[in-house]
Amino acid sequence: MAAHLKSAGYGDRDVTLFSVPEHPKEGGLVAILAGSKKTAKPMLLLGHLDVVEAKREDWTRDPFALIEENGYFYGRGAADMKAMDATWVDAMIRFKQSGYRPHRTIKLALTCGEETTFAFNGAQWLANNRPELISAAFALNEGGGGRTDGHGKVVVESIQVGEKASQNYRLETVNAGGHSSIPIRDNAIYELSDALTKLRDHEFPMQLTDTTRAFFAKAGAARADELGQAMVTLSKNPGDSAAEAIVSKDRSYHSMLRTTCVATLLEGGHANNALPQRAAANVNCRIFPGDTVEGTQAALVAAIADPNVKVTLVPPIRPIAVPPPLDPAIIGPAEKLVAKYFPGVPLVPTMSTGATDGIFLEAIGIPVYGAPGGWGDPDGNGVHGLNERRSLRSVFVGRDFLNDLVKLYADAG
Ligand SMILES: [Zn+2]
Repeated sequence: MAAHLKSAGYGDRDVTLFSVPEHPKEGGLVAILAGSKKTAKPMLLLGHLDVVEAKREDWTRDPFALIEENGYFYGRGAADMKAMDATWVDAMIRFKQSGYRPHRTIKLALTCGEETTFAFNGAQWLANNRPELISAAFALNEGGGGRTDGHGKVVVESIQVGEKASQNYRLETVNAGGHSSIPIRDNAIYELSDALTKLRDHEFPMQLTDTTRAFFAKAGAARADELGQAMVTLSKNPGDSAAEAIVSKDRSYHSMLRTTCVATLLEGGHANNALPQRAAANVNCRIFPGDTVEGTQAALVAAIADPNVKVTLVPPIRPIAVPPPLDPAIIGPAEKLVAKYFPGVPLVPTMSTGATDGIFLEAIGIPVYGAPGGWGDPDGNGVHGLNERRSLRSVFVGRDFLNDLVKLYADAG
């Protein structure tokens, strides 16, 4: 990609490659197209280059070759997120070759390690080590986009404005143990089980951000059912517990309304014929924007209410999720383009229950928005799974959309 950019006219000092000695096969690049207006703050295009593991033997087609079939591009990363990476590089090349001089400086950061815990995370590294290189008024990233009705028609477009933070905790119980032929009630596994049952039944308090309030109002109004009505009611009156109960029946909306914590891994005991000396569980929390890692830990301790259950943080410790503002200067141009490209289709602001690299940029004061444009199907397009695919129309219409969107933002500065 550096070679593509340079052959399009970017100079050596416009393209910075980065990596660290401990991870020689990982790394990324930052490319810069200088703006004409000194007072305009730069904007940043962000994309991760790495993908989730794919097992060749499980796939119908080779996951590591780009295969075009039935109007789709197939291949690991086709949707998450090489289509957008390619779009960003393509846009930077077109801008350069056409002699386009934006008001704002446009920066592109292509990074690594987004999909794998403990990998070398390029976005985090840039934020911590080269913040001046990526400094920007805002960034565009994955996480937004459209959905079809399953038959190729786009029915909704979304812009991601904020996400929850993922943090793991370890619950652990210890016990003197002994011979399993003479058991007693006091038992590390039972004690952990009791704690997990309390965790299952613990509901974190409901919260709204500007984004989720706007989401429930807009997405609710677009539905003609009881759920839609409850979504609208809740957006106006967060205290309406009847509406909350209806909305929370949807597992995604339930998670959009609060911090959630769930047991994901279990270990315990050391022999079939011994009373357990230790039992432990991993608890994965998705922390609501503004809530802290420590506050969530304290809530777990209080919910479990057993001083013998130790609750500790499992690294890596994530920064607090900062919700980006629902800024009209960002939402307005996106709405304008959605109306042009997809007449009659609503643009809905969303808060992701999953996590992206946005959290590392938000930690250094760069609001991150998941851009609309390209779209997926209701079945999820095999993202993180088998036979990942993206429709050709989504890639090419999405490219035109994002080219226009970047220009609207770059010239507005
Ligand atoms: Zn991704």
